Amino acid sequence: MKKIVFATNNSHKLDELRKLTEGKIEILSLNDINCHDDIPETADTLEGNALIKARWVKERYGYDCFADDTGLEVDALGGAPGVMSARYAGDGHDSQANMKLLIANLDGISNRTARFRTVIALIEGEKETMMDGVVDGVITEKPSGENGFGYDPIFRPEGYEVTFAEMGADEKNKISHRGRAVAKLMEYFSL
Ligand code: IMP
Repeated sequence: MKKIVFATNNSHKLDELRKLTEGKIEILSLNDINCHDDIPETADTLEGNALIKARWVKERYGYDCFADDTGLEVDALGGAPGVMSARYAGDGHDSQANMKLLIANLDGISNRTARFRTVIALIEGEKETMMDGVVDGVITEKPSGENGFGYDPIFRPEGYEVTFAEMGADEKNKISHRGRAVAKLMEYFSL
C-alpha cells in the first residue's frame, strides 16, 4: 500500500484523513517519523502555510509528504478569520474563545455566509502540487453539537439543518472542505 507522511499531529485531522484514505494509503503522522518540531506557520495565505509545513518535512526528514492548512472565511468580515483561524482570539489553539469572538463580531449582522477552505500541498520527490477543497455554509447564532473540532459547532453547511458538530464523522467527511481536498488527492494518485 502507498505510504505518505501527513505533516500534522492534530489527532482530529489524522482520524479524518485515515478514515478517508482507509485501505488505499497508509498515513504516517509527524510523531510516526519522530518529528516533534513546532513548525512555524508564518505565511499570510493558506497556500503559503501548507507549503511551509510540507517543505519542512521534505527538507529536514526526506519523506514525500503532504500538509494542509484550513481557514474559515466569513463574508461579512472580509474573509476573516481566514489564515488566522487558529489564532483568531489570540495565540494558543482555543476553539471556544475563537468561536465566542466570531459570534461577537457577527452580532447584529444578518449576512452570515462563510466557507471553510482547505489547501493541501503535496511534495513527491522534486514535484510540488497544490489542491483545495471548499464547503459553503453559514455561521450560526450559537454553538450546537459535540462532534468534530474547531469551529464545527457554529458552522452549518449549505443544504443542511445541522452544524458540522451535529453530524457523524462520515457525514461530515463526505461534504467537508478537507474531504473534498482529499478526494482530489486520491484522484491525483489514481486511487
Ligand atoms: P489549521 O489547518 O490547523 O491551521 O486550522 C486552522 C483553524 O481552523 C483551527 O482553529 C482549526 O480548529 C480550524 N479548523 C480546521 N479544520 C476544521 C474543521 O474541519 N472544522 C472546524 N474547524 C476547523
